[in-house]
Amino acid sequence: MHPPQPPAEHDDLDPKDWPATRAQAHRMLDDILDYVEHVRDRPVWQSIPDAVKAAIREPCPRGPTELAEVHDAFLRLVLPYGTGNVHPGFMGWVHGGGSVAGMLGEMLAAGLNANLGGREHMPIEVERQILRWLGPVFGMPEGAGGLFVTGSSMANFMAILVARTGALGPEVRQRGLDGAPLTAYAGTSVHGCVRRGMEMSGLGSDALRVIPVDRDGRMDLDALRAAIARDRAAGLRPFLVVGTAGTVDTGAIDDLEGIAAIAAAERLWFHVDGAFGALAMFAPSLAPRLAGIRRADSLALDFHKWGQVPYDAGYLMVRDGALQQRTFAAPAVYLRREVRGLAAGSPWPCDFGPDLSRGFRALKTWFTLKVYGTDRLGAVIEHTCALAQYLKARVEASPELELMAPVSLNIVCFRLRGPDPDALNRRVVEDLHEAGLSAPSTTILDGRLAIRAAIVNHRTQARDIDSLVDAVLLRRPLEG
Ligand SMILES: *Cc1c(COP(=O)(O)O)cnc(C)c1O
Repeated sequence: MHPPQPPAEHDDLDPKDWPATRAQAHRMLDDILDYVEHVRDRPVWQSIPDAVKAAIREPCPRGPTELAEVHDAFLRLVLPYGTGNVHPGFMGWVHGGGSVAGMLGEMLAAGLNANLGGREHMPIEVERQILRWLGPVFGMPEGAGGLFVTGSSMANFMAILVARTGALGPEVRQRGLDGAPLTAYAGTSVHGCVRRGMEMSGLGSDALRVIPVDRDGRMDLDALRAAIARDRAAGLRPFLVVGTAGTVDTGAIDDLEGIAAIAAAERLWFHVDGAFGALAMFAPSLAPRLAGIRRADSLALDFHKWGQVPYDAGYLMVRDGALQQRTFAAPAVYLRREVRGLAAGSPWPCDFGPDLSRGFRALKTWFTLKVYGTDRLGAVIEHTCALAQYLKARVEASPELELMAPVSLNIVCFRLRGPDPDALNRRVVEDLHEAGLSAPSTTILDGRLAIRAAIVNHRTQARDIDSLVDAVLLRRPLEG
């Protein structure tokens, strides 16, 4: 009998030279703070040179590289060619600007390396605290579910699954749909991820009835009632209506109060896609426009848009937290819960969604909410809407420009007049991107291409609106 031989002491991955690593870490922090402080001096966006793309395509390293050298590669290859949404001139899609407090929170979260799937530790209490803070803002009672997810695409998908459990019972998890003829309803301007959620849930996107919207982009409630009645008459089973608080195209807000009333009368699940608009509840002048959001059975929202939390930080709230748990909880033997020790604290976040291992998205959100406070975040949201009104006024004051949609929140759709306006305006937007001046996006409204400026970033000022308008006007077609 030989005594067991322990393996030799091995090199772990921690630094050998802590002081040198610490100095390098401080340089990295300084560099990224410099980037944020001086972002206005940079182009919003620049096209990526082929040499830069080629440089990143190297074989997977078998051996080590100095941290300083990797950071240098980041500074050369990655940092100058970001999306641009930290920049105040970025107005494309609906991208948040991020925040320094959120960034630092994210760094601390990475150091702590918490897994928020479950167990008994304070990081989960931080996540629960976000629900204690914001649940009441959205009319959610004690016992509601609240969970960080990647984004509202995931939150909307999960809400469809919870609503499906509500309609068919938890047996649907074993039996599948079994031919249940469920139908759902949303306005034509609903985000594409809701259609995808219908596909992924097995309900099929054909079961999503797309209801016409009025001139302000709000779901036509008579058409909604008629569609529900038609489906019932055909023996189908209406189960879900999705209202949108801030459509991605134009920022329209559905009549959430009206939809809530119909949902209550028809006994449908009322879900609100509040991906970017829901946090307007922080702004006293805007909150009344979201009336009805507090009646939602479930709500999707993104802290990474108007909330200025760095990506990603989506969130799902469900009024009936127990139903959410019945939709997802998977008691596995190795996940056994105890009442004491590290395996206590049940139910765990992993019981309320599909993810088992989960990062600490809550920390950057907690930092952002604490450092700035909801009043200040609300003021930022109000300011972006005031900038949208200013942009609208500038468009209306310029005979060369045409307003393409009503401006209800922070999104302005407009374009240059001229021959072949679709091609013209597409070219103008591409030019602006490549010139690094301003980054609006485009959208198609009633078959017509529009320049779309979504003002989300807390750094955007009136002068950024002026540079956008001036840059567009510079590209107007010559007379004659
Ligand atoms: C952004 C957005 C989504 C998708 O959210 P992600 O966080 O990008 O997944 C859904 N609906 C609306 C209205 C949005 O603005």
